[in-house]
Amino acid sequence: TPIETVNKLSAAIAAMLNDTGFAPYHGAVKVGVDLGTADIQTLVLDRHNRPLACYLRWAEVVRDGIVVDYQGAREIVSEQLQCAAQRLDVNIERVATAFPPGTDPRISVNVVEAAGVEVSTVIDEPSSVAQLLSLQHAAVVDIGGGTTGTAIVEQGRVVASADDPTGGHHITLALAGHYGLPYDKAEWLKRMDDSGDVLAVVRPVIAKMADLVRRHIAAHAPPVIYLTGGCCALHGFAEVFAAELADTEVVVPERPLHLTPLAIAACA
Ligand code: ATP
Repeated sequence: TPIETVNKLSAAIAAMLNDTGFAPYHGAVKVGVDLGTADIQTLVLDRHNRPLACYLRWAEVVRDGIVVDYQGAREIVSEQLQCAAQRLDVNIERVATAFPPGTDPRISVNVVEAAGVEVSTVIDEPSSVAQLLSLQHAAVVDIGGGTTGTAIVEQGRVVASADDPTGGHHITLALAGHYGLPYDKAEWLKRMDDSGDVLAVVRPVIAKMADLVRRHIAAHAPPVIYLTGGCCALHGFAEVFAAELADTEVVVPERPLHLTPLAIAACA
């Protein structure tokens, strides 16, 4: 199934994450740049969508739909493209990029162009995921750093979308508050914990996210929800979220942090 393929490709991405080792490639490449509120990811695929290079940098360069650190964003994208070009010994001249529904596509386009490449494709993020997974009727729910965004896909196209400002950032804030930790330590704890302790503390935040999504989908009743976005990588997140939305099937990829970047690069 497409999701099994995506899981395999994402495992390959995780294995080569930020690897600058020389691995020359002869042939056409597809490149995608994902500019998020929590991180920037650049991914290079071959024409069969097999990953060749992947770079991720945690950076808060975008916030509330605007670029708060334009220079920083440009430099990170430029460095990631350079690392990829050097690793693979290829020229990268054209890339695909994307935007969350309801935000200005020019944000990503401007940053990518400032990094010195042409934008060949610009697509909204859930549409790229719908294409990659060949979705016909579904909801794509992206829970990233700052937002929970839902897109309704009908006949393969996004027909409606909604978002709310609750994301991984709020899970970290809840943890920081509960344990009296500085934000960075709470963020680290969130990503490393697999004991279930974190889950017990942040369960109400996940329930709130599920409730937001329930409202987003109410008028459309999609048969299945596909989750994407790094927040869904939290240990136990998927189970809690799916239990809250018991009436609808919930599909969670194994490495949700890499699904949207993979989908963007596949569109290139
Ligand atoms: P947005 O969608 O708001 O623009 P983004 O695209 O930058 O943000 P993602 O890269 O999808 O967001 O996800 C980033 C979020 O995922 C951060 O809040 C980060 O803490 C969280 N995250 C990443 N890995 C994990 C993990 N293993 N466990 C829990 N949370 C994680």
